[in-house]
Amino acid sequence: MTLRDLRGQQTARETLERALASKRVHHAYRFEGPAGVGKELAAFALAQALLCTEGDPLGCGVCGACRRAVTISDRPPFVPLHPDLIVVEQGLYPDSIIGRDEKSGVSVEQIRRIVLGHVSFAPAEGRARVFLFRRADELTPQAANALLKTLEEPRPATHFILLTSRPEKLLPTIRSRSMLVRFGALPEPVLRDLLTERGIAEPLLGEVVALAEGSVERALDLAEPERAESRAAFLRALTAASAEGTAGAAVKLAESADTDRRVMRDRLFDLAAHLSAVARAASPDAAFALARGYELVMKATENLEMANAAPAHVLTDLALSLHRVGAGAALRSRSNA
Ligand SMILES: [Zn+2]
Repeated sequence: MTLRDLRGQQTARETLERALASKRVHHAYRFEGPAGVGKELAAFALAQALLCTEGDPLGCGVCGACRRAVTISDRPPFVPLHPDLIVVEQGLYPDSIIGRDEKSGVSVEQIRRIVLGHVSFAPAEGRARVFLFRRADELTPQAANALLKTLEEPRPATHFILLTSRPEKLLPTIRSRSMLVRFGALPEPVLRDLLTERGIAEPLLGEVVALAEGSVERALDLAEPERAESRAAFLRALTAASAEGTAGAAVKLAESADTDRRVMRDRLFDLAAHLSAVARAASPDAAFALARGYELVMKATENLEMANAAPAHVLTDLALSLHRVGAGAALRSRSNA
């Protein structure tokens, strides 16, 4: 696995390849994009390229340095075997190493021991040293502040790669000291190929691709047999209740559903994605009803999260309002087709 193998992220890949080929690799990159689209693969590949001892600007992928960069120790802490690739992540290191348990974010202690404790020394094996922050948005403000000076003026051959799927959570001072590389949702054909290689076949393949919003991680999650089955059951029950449109059917739906708030939130997102997937193949009239249905689902999600409405009520209301806009009927005719 090298940068050559990164799929569906052409812009990011070209940015990094150009930097490596011209030996002008920035000392602090910030990889932003949704979860499960290749940020971490790209970060490890960039680290390989920087640590490779074979003179291949993109990393040869086979020398000892390249291989140890992507091989994780089989006992704790679960970090790369290469001593010059240092991963920073909440809870990765035991308190015997960093001196405390980490429950709320990457602590200032981790930054002191794991980052600042190393930066003033030359790399252990010579070429470069790379700090990889798996979820940079988990840095506590104290940890972020402890990092600022080093992030701004690191030693030569020291590199930082900050990954985040929640860039709005990063301190502006961290953002301004790092160079953005954007990662987008994976295009559908790429996602299909990646999932097929992992043994996922139709009809599940088509279903999860439609729901996954370009994220391999989300697709694999959706493809878990248990999750796939409970999602299908929910969609069947919701379709039936919203097609019927009676208060009795809506209440029955709410009683049969898992009303844990987080489960319900996932179900609503699945439903929204299902509506948009069905709408793409529907007649114009049905597509219009499904689009209104989609808006209602988004509003229900908002009520669930922002207004803290009871999940069972949200679901009952949703089934009835989907019926009113004709989305229930459109869903049912699709599932009968
Ligand atoms: Zn190599």
